[in-house]
Amino acid sequence: MSAKTIPVTDAIWQYLIDVTVREPPVLVKLRDETGRMPNGGMQISPEQGQFMKLLVELTCARSAIEVGVFTGYSSLRVALAMPADGRIVACDVSEEYTNVARRYWREAGVEDKIDLRLGPALATLNALIAEGAQGTFDFAFIDADKGNYGGYYERCLTLVRSGGLIAVDNTLWSGAVADPAKQDTDTRAIRELNAKISGDPRVSSSLVPIGDGLHLARKH
Ligand code: CA
Repeated sequence: MSAKTIPVTDAIWQYLIDVTVREPPVLVKLRDETGRMPNGGMQISPEQGQFMKLLVELTCARSAIEVGVFTGYSSLRVALAMPADGRIVACDVSEEYTNVARRYWREAGVEDKIDLRLGPALATLNALIAEGAQGTFDFAFIDADKGNYGGYYERCLTLVRSGGLIAVDNTLWSGAVADPAKQDTDTRAIRELNAKISGDPRVSSSLVPIGDGLHLARKH
């Protein structure tokens, strides 16, 4: 019994993977290929991917935003969890990484569900708002450059509908957020956003200690 979240040891993590995670073969293949790439550690963990699948199902999401695609693991998870008419606007700046993503989206048969927008995500989100898309998205996943997290959150909050969910990744930042000695720009930006979400009257929230920390905010 514990009144606080237990530390996830290697043995516990292995148990989660072995006993609770069901990862489709195409995702296993993408995970392996990405793991061999430089920055491969940037992809989300399998248990987090499965948790996000559940979130997409719980919110009955048919339209989603992804800020930060990398090699496409999370967007593939989300796309597979959506109905056939589901759509994701996926934002990234890297043609190299998203070429890997596109290859796997095609292989999994979800390429038509994903609208990849190459370019700075703030501009893409601003354009969506300018086009009148505010309040039309069910789900948003933010996992990109940490310095812009505050700006991504505000725009996603505008774009999701009432009852829609925003999930912000890396919000424990390997524990750096809890270490007062860590004062670099990224850590401060994440700390600032965590405090903002937690005190934000526009949302209900919970920072879930899965992966590197996933801060959930449901818009009222
Ligand atoms: Ca991440």
